[in-house]
Amino acid sequence: MDKLVVGTATDDTVRLIAAVTTDLVAEAVHRHQTSPTASAALGRVLTGVALLGASLKDFDRLTVRVEADGPIEGIVAEAKSDGSVRGYVRNPAAELPPKSDGKFDVSGIVGGGMLYVTRESGFDLGLYRDPYVGSVPITSGELAEDFAYYLAKSEQIPSAVLLGVLLQNTAPFVTASGGVMIQMMPGVNDHLVTIIEDTVGRAPHVTTVINEGATPEDLIAVALGEVEFKILDERAVRFDCSCSYERAVSMISALGQQEVSSMLAEDGRAVMTCGFCNETYRLDASELEGILARENGGASDG
Ligand code: ZN
Repeated sequence: MDKLVVGTATDDTVRLIAAVTTDLVAEAVHRHQTSPTASAALGRVLTGVALLGASLKDFDRLTVRVEADGPIEGIVAEAKSDGSVRGYVRNPAAELPPKSDGKFDVSGIVGGGMLYVTRESGFDLGLYRDPYVGSVPITSGELAEDFAYYLAKSEQIPSAVLLGVLLQNTAPFVTASGGVMIQMMPGVNDHLVTIIEDTVGRAPHVTTVINEGATPEDLIAVALGEVEFKILDERAVRFDCSCSYERAVSMISALGQQEVSSMLAEDGRAVMTCGFCNETYRLDASELEGILARENGGASDG
């Protein structure tokens, strides 16, 4: 089962977040039928948003949007405080040959562009406040570096970010996925930062250790080397979308009587597909007739 942990080291001057997201990313890849390189890009952003979302309070929502000028066009991912994560890419077929080192050319399909992070709270309670939005230009396109750049520039938190997705040629395609975020808080010892940066730089790839069975705690241990740490919190993370048949019905209802009548007359049904999870909802003629009957009822009441 996928898991995320939050920890701390060196008298709370270093904040640690790590997650294994293999099942979450496999579910996303299955739902969106992404090409191998698009799968790697989507998996990295889903993992990144899960890690960034570790600080969410109840009813908070965090959205990461990559507006890319490369073939993938865009990547959108959302995390909520209950550990649910969802996301998609605009062009699931985007693909390029591997780079000379054999790795996916994620920076090639992302290209340049902007990374936006939106933090919202109280959304589901109707206590909606102005969201916080931060953005940075895409400088790497490999995405982990872009998350680190965002944290440093927009939130003034110097960070090391490792994100990885390992794929195979047969279903479920994703064999390992996960990441680590090491955030340097105010008062951190410069010498320690150098040691951590050095260890992170030499650490084996996260997917290599996840593939060997590593937990999120193991990922932190690998990234920190000799530096001691303690775990403060852990939670399950999973791919989960808030869409439902009922929500599809209310969205079709909101189109208005005229639109619903013409759907009924022309197609005898309505079909809606959720962009985040690719689930398709089919409303048959009797459902559409029901919407019209309720709409009429509502009108006569007023
Ligand atoms: Zn959905």
